[in-house]
Amino acid sequence: MFMLKVCHVCDSILGEMEVEDSLTNAYPDSIMDVVGNVAYTLCPECLRQLELETETGSVYN
Ligand SMILES: [Zn+2]
Repeated sequence: MFMLKVCHVCDSILGEMEVEDSLTNAYPDSIMDVVGNVAYTLCPECLRQLELETETGSVYN
């Protein structure tokens, strides 16, 4: 199975990957959200942004 990795937030294509059909269920705990042959995830940039926002949010209550 051939999959495309796309960022949830900015829609940028992060890459492609080939996954065995039997492995598509192997990511239940990951941040990946697989829809069809597209794996929605977060690019490093958006992930960092999200972490910063989370930290800031907790600081400013
Ligand atoms: Zn992104």
